[in-house]
Amino acid sequence: MNKEDFQKSETIVNLCRSFLLESQNSARCKFMAEKASEEKYCYLEDLLKKTSDKMIAQAKVFYEALETNMDDLGIEIEFDDVYPFRKASLAENFLYSADEAEIARDEIYPEYATTAKEEGFVEIAKKFEFMYQIKDCLYLMMIEIANKMKENKLYKEDKPIKWKCDNCGHEETSKDAWNKCPFCGFEQGHVIVELKDDKNQEKNE
Ligand SMILES: [Zn+2]
Repeated sequence: MNKEDFQKSETIVNLCRSFLLESQNSARCKFMAEKASEEKYCYLEDLLKKTSDKMIAQAKVFYEALETNMDDLGIEIEFDDVYPFRKASLAENFLYSADEAEIARDEIYPEYATTAKEEGFVEIAKKFEFMYQIKDCLYLMMIEIANKMKENKLYKEDKPIKWKCDNCGHEETSKDAWNKCPFCGFEQGHVIVELKDDKNQEKNE
């Protein structure tokens, strides 16, 4: 890769934007985890913390692509950008996160991949393309939790299903999850919230 071309490219700016976007997403997700903890959604707290860690790992991929390809002396990148800030409940934040994942999947990363290809940065274009699937998983997770929270169905189903305690592993089949685990006594927030995407993954394994 020609470093001079890279320095002048739109792709270097898009890598920087991707790094900032995922770093910021990771922070926002961590704040959501704190809110989940305050509201005693312990399983969701863990899920959000893990998701936040994944976002930092994604940010690192873009950071390293910048570092590897830029001029040895480094570079300062200047550009305009817009970021949303909203006052929102935990449930609303799941919905906003789903919206943002959808935009990243359908608009942001496809645009970055196309630009990288046009500019001849094939390997970087592939990194952007990998984000389609990552953002799709994120979208499915966020929208399902948002809907379950909205309909008050995190721990309630129309038909009996198997509920599992994330603390002790106790399982029970019923329509509603327990308020306190009958075995370890941990609260409802420790009941594993099974998501459709997880179930698909298990089937494929
Ligand atoms: Zn238990």
